[in-house]
Amino acid sequence: MSPVKPLRQILFSSLFALALPLSAPASAAGEVLYYEDRAQIPEPYTWDLGLYFADEQAWEAAFAELEAELPQLEKYRDRVAESPATMAAALEEQFRLSRKLGPLYINANQKIHLLRSDPVGAEQSGRVNSLLSRFQREAAFIQPEIALMPQDKVAAFRKAPELKPYRHYLDNVWRLREHTRSPEVEQVIAGSTLPGAGHFNTYEELNHADIAWPTIVDENGEPAVVSPGQFARFRASTDRDLRKRAWEAHMQKVADFQNTYAATLGSKIQRDVWLAQVYRYPSSIEAALSASNVPPEVMETLLSTVHDNADKIQGYNVLRREILGVETLQPWDSQVSLLPDGGRKYTFAEAWELAMQFWRETFGDEFASIAQQALDNRWVDVYSNEGKRGGAYSWGTYQQPYYLFLNWGGEFEDVSTLVHEMGHSVHGVLASNNQSYHDAPVDLFVAEVGSVASESLFGEWMLERTKDKQERKQLLDHALSSIRNTFVTQIFFHEWEARVHAMAEEGQALTAASMGEVYVDLLKTYNGDTYARHELDALHWARIPHFFRNFYVWKYATSFAAGEALAARFRSGDKSAAEDYMNMLKLGGSVYPLDVLKAGGVDMTDPSVIRAVMDRFGLLQQQLAREFGL
Ligand SMILES: [Zn+2]
Repeated sequence: MSPVKPLRQILFSSLFALALPLSAPASAAGEVLYYEDRAQIPEPYTWDLGLYFADEQAWEAAFAELEAELPQLEKYRDRVAESPATMAAALEEQFRLSRKLGPLYINANQKIHLLRSDPVGAEQSGRVNSLLSRFQREAAFIQPEIALMPQDKVAAFRKAPELKPYRHYLDNVWRLREHTRSPEVEQVIAGSTLPGAGHFNTYEELNHADIAWPTIVDENGEPAVVSPGQFARFRASTDRDLRKRAWEAHMQKVADFQNTYAATLGSKIQRDVWLAQVYRYPSSIEAALSASNVPPEVMETLLSTVHDNADKIQGYNVLRREILGVETLQPWDSQVSLLPDGGRKYTFAEAWELAMQFWRETFGDEFASIAQQALDNRWVDVYSNEGKRGGAYSWGTYQQPYYLFLNWGGEFEDVSTLVHEMGHSVHGVLASNNQSYHDAPVDLFVAEVGSVASESLFGEWMLERTKDKQERKQLLDHALSSIRNTFVTQIFFHEWEARVHAMAEEGQALTAASMGEVYVDLLKTYNGDTYARHELDALHWARIPHFFRNFYVWKYATSFAAGEALAARFRSGDKSAAEDYMNMLKLGGSVYPLDVLKAGGVDMTDPSVIRAVMDRFGLLQQQLAREFGL
C-alpha cells in the first residue's frame, strides 16, 4: 500500500529488536551464561521449536500446502469490488493464506537465530522468503481494487454486513487511496520487495560474514574479537583502557569499509525516496507519517522539545564526567555503568522471581499468568551459545506462541530487557486473543509503548524496594541511560535520517563523507562541547541497523514518551491505570495508533506528553547527583 506499510506487515506481527549488549561469558552465583555447545543448555531455558511444527516433515507439508493454494487468489482478480460478498471472500482468502505463511517464516528464521550456520534454517528461510515475495505479488491487486472504487460505492459497501469485520481495515485502505497505484503497478512494486531487501542483506553479510573484525586482549588477558555482536559488551566494560582499545579497533575497521557501508545504506535511502515518489508523497518522511496516520506536529514537537532541552543532555554528560572522574568524556565513555564494579548481578531465576512479583502487583493476574505460561511452555530462549545471534527480541504470530529471544548476561540491564520483551509477548497474546487476525497486528507507532511503560515502572518498583545505596545509584543510572538511549539518541538518529533523506531528495550525493558531515554537525548540536571529538565519530551511522528500516527510530522516541505518560498514571496512584493499560494492549491494531494510545489515557497530540520526558530526565539527574553527594 505505501512504502512504509508493506503487505508484509499484515502478514504477521513484527520483530521487535533491541540492540543490546551480548553478555560476557562470566557467571553470577554459579550460573553459566555462555555455552560452546547449545545441547548443554538445560532444556527448560531453550525454545521448544516444535510449537508451530512438530518436525521438519510438518514444516515441509505446510509449505507445500500453502504453495499449492496460492493460485486460488487469482479467481478474485478484477472481481474484488464486484459486491460486498466477493470483497469479503477475497479478503478472507488473502488473510487465510497469509496466516499460514507467518509460522513458516518465523520457524525457519528462528533456527538461524539460534545457530547461524544451521543448514536447514538457511535453506528454509531462503525458500519461505521467495514464497512470501510470490504471495505479495499475487495478492497485490486486492488493495488497489478496493482503493480505486468510486466514493458512493465505498459508502454503500461500508454498511454491508459481510464487510463489518473488515471495517477498520477498509477505512485504512480508503484513507490511503490517493497513494495507491493501479493493480499492475502495485504488482511490479511487490515484485521488487525481494531484490529491494538486498541492501540490508549486504549489510548483514558484511558485518557478520565478510569483515574479519579485529582481535584485542580483553580484561582476562585473553584474545577477543570486537565484532558488532561483542561491541556493546566492550563499551560497557568498567576498564576504560579496554573500552578505548575496543572502540578504536572496531571503528577503524568500519572506516576501512566506509564506502561499502555508504553505498549500501545510500542506495536503500534512494529506494525510500523513489517509493515515496511512486506513491505520490511530497517526501519520504510524509510517506512514513501517513502509514501510521500520525500528524506531522507530533514529530515536530519531538524535535523542538529535544532542541529546547539541549542543556539537560549536556548537563547529563557533565554529571557522568564528574561521577566517572575523567577529565573529558570520550566516545567510549557513553555506555559504561557509573558504578565502578558495574553494580549488582542477577541470576535468571532471581530476575524471573522479581519480574513475576512486579507483573502481578502492577498489571494483575492476567498479565502474570501469560508470562508464566511463556516460561512453562518454553517460549523463552535464555542463554547465549556459540553461533547464536546477539541482542533480544519478542516474535510470534497470531496462532502463537510469541517467542522471547534473550542473551542473558546477569546485569540489571538484562532484567529490564526481560521485562521489556515480555511486555511485547503479552501484548501479542492479548491482541491475538481479543482481535481477529487482520486487526491484531500492532502498528509500529504503538508497538513499543506497553513495553517501555512496563520497563520504566519496573525500574521505579525496584527503586522503591531498595535501601541499598549502591543499588539505588545503579537503578537511577539505568533510568537515565534509558531516557538517553531510547529517547534522546533515537531523536538524534531520526534527525540524521531525515536530513540524509532530504539530501537524497534534493539530488545530493550520499557518500561516507556527506553522511558523516551531517552526523558530526548533530553531535555538536546535541552535546555542545561536553564530549571530546574523535575523527571516527563521523562513521557511527554505519553501526545502526535500524537505518535500514525506513523512519523507524523516531517511533522508539514517541513510544517512550507515551510509555512514560502511561507510567506517570500508575505513579500518581490512578486506580484505573492498570485496567486501561490491559485494554490498550487488547486493542491490537483494530483502531488507529493514536486511538490505541487514547484508550491507555495518553493523548500524543498534546506536546506536554513529550516535554514530560525531558522534565523527568532533569529530575532524575538531580536525584542521581544527590545519591553521589554532588
Ligand atoms: Zn521493544
